[in-house]
Amino acid sequence: MKIIMLGAPGAGKGTQAKQIADKYSIPHISTGDIFRANLKAGTELGKKAKEYMDQGLLVPDELTCDLVMDRISQDDCKNGFVLDGFPRTIPQAEALDAALTKIGQKMDYAVDVDVPDENIINRMSGRRACLNCGATYHIVSIPTKVEGVCDRCGSPVVLRDDDQPETVKKRLEVYHAQTQPLIDYYKKQNILKSVDGTQPMEEVFRAIVEILGA
Ligand code: AMP
Repeated sequence: MKIIMLGAPGAGKGTQAKQIADKYSIPHISTGDIFRANLKAGTELGKKAKEYMDQGLLVPDELTCDLVMDRISQDDCKNGFVLDGFPRTIPQAEALDAALTKIGQKMDYAVDVDVPDENIINRMSGRRACLNCGATYHIVSIPTKVEGVCDRCGSPVVLRDDDQPETVKKRLEVYHAQTQPLIDYYKKQNILKSVDGTQPMEEVFRAIVEILGA
């Protein structure tokens, strides 16, 4: 099963993508995570990506597309994968379609986790991330057991640079201008499914499982 998660930054698509990956035993591929891992490892790609990420802008397609095409051609993606944060532009979606068509495949579902902007801004200001292992929390809905300390690895959890309020506003603008058109793109392909992302996380997941099948 090949799934795309769509939704504004902070809609909760990452959390849902991880659960989908677990339930259906397919890899979770997050371009944001890949860029952050590169940044942490000090690679050239990481340094380049950071320039854009810190400003709430998208990393250019030419740095993003090959990375994903490489990843989905790996062996563990044979039975499918869940894409989280990719595609984010029409050219990225077209590149993905072209790569899959070449091997006689296509995406099965694009799941849009729908959350209005007002909710997003509230949510993002409470988001916390571990800079060491990447685990994400929320001060109200998913708090760490010990305040400010990652449950998984014990490192400090912080408000990421790209979750700062000004950057969030910019990211939402970028989302509406560049990513939202993908909703129509996948509607036309008849693979778009929408879920109400304002519900509690468990309800959102239940709605997604209903779409994908048990
Ligand atoms: P995320 O964790 O998915 O919210 O991604 C964090 C940041 O990484 C985004 O704000 C972008 O700067 C960059 N990024 C992640 N995925 C993509 C993508 N598919 N295309 C361009 N930039 C991306």
